[in-house]
Amino acid sequence: MLRIKNARMVKNEEWKEVNIYVEKGKIKDIVPGDEALLSVKKEIDAQGKVVFPGFIDPHVHFDDPGFTEREDFETGTKSAAAGGITTIIDMPCTSIPPITTASNYDYKLKIVKPKAYVDFAFWGGVTPEQVESGEYKKSLKELKDRGIIGVKFYTISGMELYPRMPLPDMDKTFRILKDLNLVCAVHAEDYYLVEYYSHLMQEMGREDPESWSEGRTYEAEPEAIWSVVGITEKVGNKLHLVHLSTKAGLNIIRWAKAHKLDVTTETCPQYLIFTVEDLKRRGSILKIAPPLRREEDQNALWEGLKDGSIDFICTDHAAGKYPEEKSSPNIWKNYAGIPGTQLVVPTLLHYGYHSGRLNLTEIQKLMSENAAKRYGLYPQKGAIQVGSDADFSVVDLDKEWTVEPSKLKSKGKYSPLAGKTLRGKIYMTILRGEIVYKDYEGVIGEKGYGELVKSKVK
Ligand SMILES: [Zn+2]
Repeated sequence: MLRIKNARMVKNEEWKEVNIYVEKGKIKDIVPGDEALLSVKKEIDAQGKVVFPGFIDPHVHFDDPGFTEREDFETGTKSAAAGGITTIIDMPCTSIPPITTASNYDYKLKIVKPKAYVDFAFWGGVTPEQVESGEYKKSLKELKDRGIIGVKFYTISGMELYPRMPLPDMDKTFRILKDLNLVCAVHAEDYYLVEYYSHLMQEMGREDPESWSEGRTYEAEPEAIWSVVGITEKVGNKLHLVHLSTKAGLNIIRWAKAHKLDVTTETCPQYLIFTVEDLKRRGSILKIAPPLRREEDQNALWEGLKDGSIDFICTDHAAGKYPEEKSSPNIWKNYAGIPGTQLVVPTLLHYGYHSGRLNLTEIQKLMSENAAKRYGLYPQKGAIQVGSDADFSVVDLDKEWTVEPSKLKSKGKYSPLAGKTLRGKIYMTILRGEIVYKDYEGVIGEKGYGELVKSKVK
């Protein structure tokens, strides 16, 4: 048996000092800090640190198999472990083949499982071709049986093997997924607006960073969100809007929630701490899709996190080959994406907690509990309670440290936070009772220890 002693848990913004007993990877007991201690073989002293339930990054692109020159499951899950993340959920589209059938799923699992340092779940996928042939009904059922947590859609896509889904096909697929009780996640930017204005920018000879934002025009996001919310209103499926970037989009989601539609959303640190002004100044390092917006959007996103209209935070971790894919003077030629899973928690502690925008209870929900609940992983994940997996992120709230991209575990050794001193650091990451990361020692978990986690949604 393992004991984590002097663990400061957060409950309704009050400290609760407890001792947590762990047996066979599960939480066996939680007792008040002043109770007599049992004798145990192994002990971790969390004195002075805050113990959160293992954090979850529910939206990453670890590129394996197929795009492993950018990232692979080993480097991706190592960066998660170092970032206090004990479970990641990998997207279906940035691997070859995409996770659109049971056999593709099995193939991917066989390749990535031996490389995993943290636990992982999968998003499933579907293509318009499968909808047209009618094959999608069988494939989605088989993927559900294998434990996918939801299915990802794009209203616009730059990926050859994973094209955008036209709205009529989305309607058909949402109906199947409603019956399967799975979340439909949508990357929402209107195809026609973005196509037209992106081409126009390039025809005009624009290569400057801001032209990326202007091409992927602001209204494209709310426009696409309205369309898919419109489908959900007809179908009654579970809808999730990924990486929300606009205030206008947020207001539609508020409308949908107020009308009792089963709609959730997430945003990413990059939309919370940078704006288009930063993109103009710093260029490609901040090229992401959807692009950075204005300060009023940023403020609206913080408010949305606070009032619960944004349900959780993810990173959309997507590493480009660095520096090759991030250094063209022409913004259109650079890769769109930032590897973020190692830095998301310190970023939220610094810009959220220490800036007074979020309290620790909110961070715990936004980074762990809420995604676990949405995707059918709760209370195995996302909770510190008896019977849950013994996953903990142990955090040093006040420790200051400086971000050095060369030390990141991701293959993409770049960050828009390079050189920034953050207040709040990961002290230790514990996965099913084993320490997988420790400050000063690095990732000390065992490769392949990470397990597949399945959605328990019936
Ligand atoms: Zn993504």
